[in-house]
Amino acid sequence: MPHVDGSVGIGSTSEREVASLETDAQLDALCDKAVAICPALASAPVVDRWAGIRPRAKSRAPLIGPWPGREGHFVANGGFKIGFGMAPAVARMVADLVLEGRDTIPEGFHS
Ligand SMILES: Cc1cc2nc3c(=O)[nH]c(=O)nc-3n(C[C@H](O)[C@H](O)[C@H](O)COP(=O)(O)OP(=O)(O)OC[C@H]3O[C@@H](n4cnc5c(N)ncnc54)[C@H](O)[C@@H]3O)c2cc1C
Repeated sequence: MPHVDGSVGIGSTSEREVASLETDAQLDALCDKAVAICPALASAPVVDRWAGIRPRAKSRAPLIGPWPGREGHFVANGGFKIGFGMAPAVARMVADLVLEGRDTIPEGFHS
């Protein structure tokens, strides 16, 4: 992914079990692949490496609704790999629920 400042982002790996947020050999392999595809990257300095936890609910669907056992608290999480695109719709569902008591949450997304 080329960035406007001239840097290039390379990613990403995906793992089900995570013991630490240190990046490892999987990212080394990814960088090697990027250089194989685009040899000009071989001389580019690595400015950063990072790992994060991508929130996933029980299913791959977002998890939205009242927080069981916590009156007045709500959950809007588990966006996983569709969270960016779903965020506006999730926000609308949560606003409808919290502000107007209207439940428009699809059955598969319920907390
Ligand atoms: C490591 C990682 C990888 C991901 N990868 C993908 C991906 O590849 N594709 C994809 O579609 N989704 C991905 N997601 C999920 C996606 O990022 C989320 O689903 C999405 O950002 C949720 O949007 P949101 O607006 O609901 O919440 P957020 O993006 O979390 O925004 C909430 C905002 O509210 C602010 N905030 C919190 N509390 C307060 C407060 N009290 N007052 C004011 N502001 C506050 C926070 O600072 C934040 O800016 C990933 C998430 C993570 C963590």
